[in-house]
Amino acid sequence: MNDPVCGMSGMEESAVATMEWKGVRYGFCSQRCYDLFTKQPEKYARKEEGRNMHNKHHDHTQGHKGCC
Ligand SMILES: [Zn+2]
Repeated sequence: MNDPVCGMSGMEESAVATMEWKGVRYGFCSQRCYDLFTKQPEKYARKEEGRNMHNKHHDHTQGHKGCC
């Protein structure tokens, strides 16, 4: 689990706060990171989504050649 705001890893043990957003659990190193995330979860969760998007992209291109 990584802190999506500042990118700090290893939040399983040291997380000050955790929350689940769109089925993904996030940990936060500080109250500040937690507050920032709850205000704009889309902004900070994008990194995690990007990883998933990569797989989706492969599926997508298989069925739609030349699309993107
Ligand atoms: Zn943090």
